[in-house]
Amino acid sequence: MNPTQNSEGKDPVRSEKSTLTDTVLVADDDPIFRHVLQSCLEKWNYRVVAVENGEDAWKILQEPDAPHLAILDWMMPGLDGLELCRKLRHRKEGTYRYLLLVTAKDNIQDIVAGLEAGADDYLTKPFDVDELRARVRSGTRILQLQDALLRAHEKLQFEAAHDGLTGIWNRRAILDLLKREVERHHRNGQPLGILMADVDHFKRINDTYGHPAGDTVLLEVVSRIVKSLRQYDFVGRYGGEEFLAVVPGCDAANLMASAERIRASIATHPIDTDAGQLSITLSLGVVSMQANSVFDYESVLHAADAALYRAKANGRDRVEVANSLFAARAGLA
Ligand SMILES: [Mg+2]
Repeated sequence: MNPTQNSEGKDPVRSEKSTLTDTVLVADDDPIFRHVLQSCLEKWNYRVVAVENGEDAWKILQEPDAPHLAILDWMMPGLDGLELCRKLRHRKEGTYRYLLLVTAKDNIQDIVAGLEAGADDYLTKPFDVDELRARVRSGTRILQLQDALLRAHEKLQFEAAHDGLTGIWNRRAILDLLKREVERHHRNGQPLGILMADVDHFKRINDTYGHPAGDTVLLEVVSRIVKSLRQYDFVGRYGGEEFLAVVPGCDAANLMASAERIRASIATHPIDTDAGQLSITLSLGVVSMQANSVFDYESVLHAADAALYRAKANGRDRVEVANSLFAARAGLA
């Protein structure tokens, strides 16, 4: 039998904004019991997906958009409710499913076995309609709480790794990414590029035009840097007006071209701010790591910083390449 889905004609408002937590999977081999469960749940405005065996339930529950709440009959031929609970809890990934095990067994050992197999709650057959409603509600409440927690956690995770103003990686995150990419480079020998960029005379912009204009400049500079690089390059805010880009798999010539593209994208188009159009320039220090490079994580940062310093000393609005043994080897010295 195919899973039957039925939510039409009940409450259009509810079904429109219905989420996965409003859908309940019912798995029971007894057609009468299945029907009773389905009609109760639909009366309370839940969507119902009903199946008649454990195998169908297992298939559905593995799908990414499976209902988050399932009412599983313990006794089913083939895959039973208890085994379903176990299998589901063995999955490491995926959203948490709230499992309500329905059983005719009501001795305490059976109930303990059900809960130990991974059921969140249980219901004994024959059940009381009000009890069913209360238990389903408590499951929904837990799922909603879990959902809210998950979202809060994701938000916190994002905020912990991203710069509040520009939305790019923050200093700690971009340094972690650099460390990871340097290690990867030493393992696989693929080229790795590092760009360190600093907005020229930024303090003057803040002092003359105010911080809101300064923030607009930073946002636009970031936007142009990101547009000049590939989607899988990493860009982070290293300091106030200083940015670090980690560019994996990019040879020296392409890295130089990227750096020059970034420099030109800033210098050739003034930035619109509330304080008027501002002409901005950017200085860049570049390190290109090729196979057998001697740079480790700290020295690559140091080399990029030194190259940036030279770009500043040599007149700003320019790109300088780290001069070292390593750059010589890359044909850049
Ligand atoms: Mg049964």
